[in-house]
Amino acid sequence: MAITEKGMEDLLATYPDTVKKNRKKHLLIKNSAEACQQIEANTRTIPGIISQRGCCFAGCKGVVVGPIKDMVHIVHGPVGCAYYSWGTRRNKARADDTTPKENIYSTLCFTTDMQEPDIVFGGEKKLSRMIDEVVEMFHPRAITISATCPVGLIGDDIGAVARAAQERHGIQVLAFNCEGYKGVSQSAGHHIANNNIMEHVIGKGTQRKPGDYVINILGEYNIGGDGWEIERILKDIGYTVNGIMTGDSSYVDIRNLHLADLNLVQCHRSINYIAEMMETKYGMPWLKVNFIGVDATCKTLRELARCFNDEALIGRTEEVIARELAIVEPVIEHYRKILNGKTAFGFVGGSRSHHYQHLLRDLGMEMIVAGYEFAHRDDYEGRQVIPTIKSDADSRNIPELHLKPDEELYQDAHVYLNLTKEKFEEIKKNVPLGHYEGMNPDMKDGEVIIDDINHYEFEELVRKLKPDLILTGVRDKYIAHKLGVPSRQLHSYDYTGPYAGFNGAMTFAREVANAVTTPAWKLVTAPWEDGKSKE
Ligand code: SF4
Repeated sequence: MAITEKGMEDLLATYPDTVKKNRKKHLLIKNSAEACQQIEANTRTIPGIISQRGCCFAGCKGVVVGPIKDMVHIVHGPVGCAYYSWGTRRNKARADDTTPKENIYSTLCFTTDMQEPDIVFGGEKKLSRMIDEVVEMFHPRAITISATCPVGLIGDDIGAVARAAQERHGIQVLAFNCEGYKGVSQSAGHHIANNNIMEHVIGKGTQRKPGDYVINILGEYNIGGDGWEIERILKDIGYTVNGIMTGDSSYVDIRNLHLADLNLVQCHRSINYIAEMMETKYGMPWLKVNFIGVDATCKTLRELARCFNDEALIGRTEEVIARELAIVEPVIEHYRKILNGKTAFGFVGGSRSHHYQHLLRDLGMEMIVAGYEFAHRDDYEGRQVIPTIKSDADSRNIPELHLKPDEELYQDAHVYLNLTKEKFEEIKKNVPLGHYEGMNPDMKDGEVIIDDINHYEFEELVRKLKPDLILTGVRDKYIAHKLGVPSRQLHSYDYTGPYAGFNGAMTFAREVANAVTTPAWKLVTAPWEDGKSKE
């Protein structure tokens, strides 16, 4: 089932003219006959509309900073902000060579729990006392402080508190001014987190992990164990994972990120800043990867091997792919028979609505509606549009770091990969080194691309297009449930995972097949639809 331009007009007709004009710019029907279909993104949600977005604090602490396992992350604010940013993303962590069990704080929630007197008289002293208490009780290697809305409103100087605590205790204390109201969505928080980590943590270490083909994985948050599955495959091929940002990652490893040969970028939206800043400061190249989907994982592994231009590595890559496919393909084939021809509606965060299109296609399914909560135009249209994106008051609110090449550590990109400049440029023509083409080119004509969807549009599109499956974020999964359509929640996978790599594809296929074929959804009749309920 597809929607026409007229159908889209009908959907928007309910809005007042100004709202209609605004929302029209956030909606596209893919038409490859048009050279570049522009979409509006990363602009304010219209007041009064129920958006699925999160706040700046959620992007900073909840997504990027929170998963760093060996730092204590203090939420300076009311307990509600802390509670709802605690454990909800299921970023798994475990002890390893650099981080013993006693240095992992991922299961704990730290907050100053600001009360009315703190709002009236200020919360700096309380924050300072809390840092002392945390150091005494937990002996962390480093601490982060994330500011919430009330802290910004009353003007607590968390930077000054952090500097004083750092001097008192001799460990790094990082202050993130990520008050929830900054920017237009959680995307602002990603940017703030990236800047602070780049400025104060990356580049401070001196320990490169021993081994060959040393890589970092950026924008992988180890939800449900995704990062562990990706690491398993990469290590089998012969790569050395120097650091992951930030799933199951440590402060110690992040200090050493600049010592790798190549950055892999999984979630483009949340982490492209660091990839770009490391390229500017250290010259380190980055490759856009996608480990969601069987074909996508194979493609990424082959492109990665080509970056190093090493026959032994290319050969080993093919061996591992063949070994994994022998296990995965019969399973995927089994589920493809059940799922072939079914459709999905995907509205998730940064890059997931794009990445999961590949996994669905492995299963014979098509994502007929795809959109993002907090993407920017480059996530849809590709990085070539970045110079044309106009900055506004909201984006100017997030400070940019103006970095220069490091006098000691900067090397040309080809040197990192042990290639001649000519060879590097040749490889770059065929693999996404330093580039991301965005989601839109992967979509088929007639499919819907939607930015910052709201509750009304969500319901209407589901009613009109009748997808067999909805891939959602944390909040909108309940809309899917209420509409009687099976869903998979892709922010935390609820209680399951991994979905990445080869093993993840099999898990996802089984769960989607179970969800789509269960009769439960068709047996439920909402009380207001059974004709018996009264006003
Ligand atoms: S919007 Fe403000 S008050 Fe709400 S969760 Fe985010 S930081 Fe806390």
